[in-house]
Amino acid sequence: MRKITVAKGDGIGPEIMDATLEIILAAGAKIEIEEIEVGEKVYLAGNTSGIAKESWEVVRRNKVFLKAPITTPQGGGYKSLNVTTRKFLGLYSNVRPCMSLHPFVKTKHPFMDIVIVRENEEDLYAGIEHQQTDEVIQCLKLISRPGCEKIVRYAFEYAKQYGRKKVTCFTKDNIMKQTDGLFHRVFDEIAKEYPEIENEHWIVDIGAAKMADTPEAFDVIVMPNLYGDILSDVAAQIAGSVGLAGSANIGEACAMFEAIHGSAPRRAGQNLANPSGLLQGAVMMLNHIGETAAAEKIQNAWLKTIEDGIHTYDIFKEGTSKQKVGTKEFAQAVIANLGNKPSILKSVSYTNNAALNLPKYKRKPAAKKELVGVDLFVHWTGTSPDELAKIIQQLDSADAKLSMITNRGIKVYPDGFNETFCTDHWRCRFKLTEGNLINKQNIIELLANAVTHNIDIIKTENLYAFDGKPAFSLGQGQ
Ligand code: NAD
Repeated sequence: MRKITVAKGDGIGPEIMDATLEIILAAGAKIEIEEIEVGEKVYLAGNTSGIAKESWEVVRRNKVFLKAPITTPQGGGYKSLNVTTRKFLGLYSNVRPCMSLHPFVKTKHPFMDIVIVRENEEDLYAGIEHQQTDEVIQCLKLISRPGCEKIVRYAFEYAKQYGRKKVTCFTKDNIMKQTDGLFHRVFDEIAKEYPEIENEHWIVDIGAAKMADTPEAFDVIVMPNLYGDILSDVAAQIAGSVGLAGSANIGEACAMFEAIHGSAPRRAGQNLANPSGLLQGAVMMLNHIGETAAAEKIQNAWLKTIEDGIHTYDIFKEGTSKQKVGTKEFAQAVIANLGNKPSILKSVSYTNNAALNLPKYKRKPAAKKELVGVDLFVHWTGTSPDELAKIIQQLDSADAKLSMITNRGIKVYPDGFNETFCTDHWRCRFKLTEGNLINKQNIIELLANAVTHNIDIIKTENLYAFDGKPAFSLGQGQ
């Protein structure tokens, strides 16, 4: 018996969880359930993370967590339980299969069958935000080499295990050459280790457009967190319904499985909700814990039920559907179909679908890191970059001199355009002068001089070269 943690959540959560558990137990899955409370009640009891300390212990002990959707109360101060769980437990990989069930569920894309593998811990979701001036707030986008290696390798290993033919990478590295550039570079490096799997890279904007228009052109798609968050919902929706898709959040030690939709409070308590999304999450969970036979049995019974036209309200369509059922009746129909296979939809055969066993990330030898300059970010309410340059040049020294000013990334000094709109947030780049070395002491002196000259520095960013290569972006237009 494998013990799993279960949380029934809020809104439609308890109904779809009861239906899901009934199906997986009827399929003979050898699991034991330990229930915890998460979500609205916990939040409203004053716990801003939505989960009690004792419940964390249960989740960490059992390592496998099946979670129904929860309601995050409106208003400030409540942290997203999903984001917290993913990050605390190191669930770096979010896997969402999105497959159309044509002709039984209406879709414009009858042959769509894609899997989105989304990086789950990094990117703008580090949630590090600061207001620095009256007009400007920043959010740090953090992309790490281990983060990229782990997710890209996961995508290729997933493709290998599930007999998928191609892995596509989406990034925006034509603009974010450093962060998305690293993701793309790591993708190219790791793709070489899987010559049997086709690989390709698309810029995310045109890739997303292509995915929404011709999803059958894709197989597995791997991407950084934000693009993955948005595009996995798009993919689920165009496959038929967000109510049909499940998701797996996988880490080295723990894993969490869920439906992709929310708690749909307006549908709660009426035996209306479709339990399919959570059931799809549960099928991934059963594969993950090695309960492959039960997973296969449930998936085929579920496909057969959809094919039989037994549909909940969200996918019910006069003409295609045969019977409109509630949550409980849908679960009973799936249970009655255990042992049956679909005849038109493709049945599944899970032979070797246990948890992927990926090698641990190995830290690379450190590169030679040299400090080559510093960006001073200044809060200044003037409008003329040349005037600001004169003020900032008071900080020039023998070691480091002002080389450029940008405003929101665009170069405004030297040789800026009058047309460029400027806010009160300026980046003043100091580069070491020819033949000189800059060190941290120079930066301290720059800052001390800035105080003397009444220049409002709101942050600094060191400029480094790694193994001789500059590792920072140029000013736009530079
Ligand atoms: P939602 O996904 O709950 O609902 C969107 C729409 O889809 C609604 O019209 C709903 O009726 C329908 N729908 C969703 N799931 C369905 C199902 N299984 N069967 C039939 N119809 C279904 O999104 P929302 O309304 O934006 O959010 C409601 C609450 O859920 C919010 O508090 C939000 O924070 C929370 N939420 C939680 C999670 C999670 O816990 N993983 C994810 C997303 C949203």
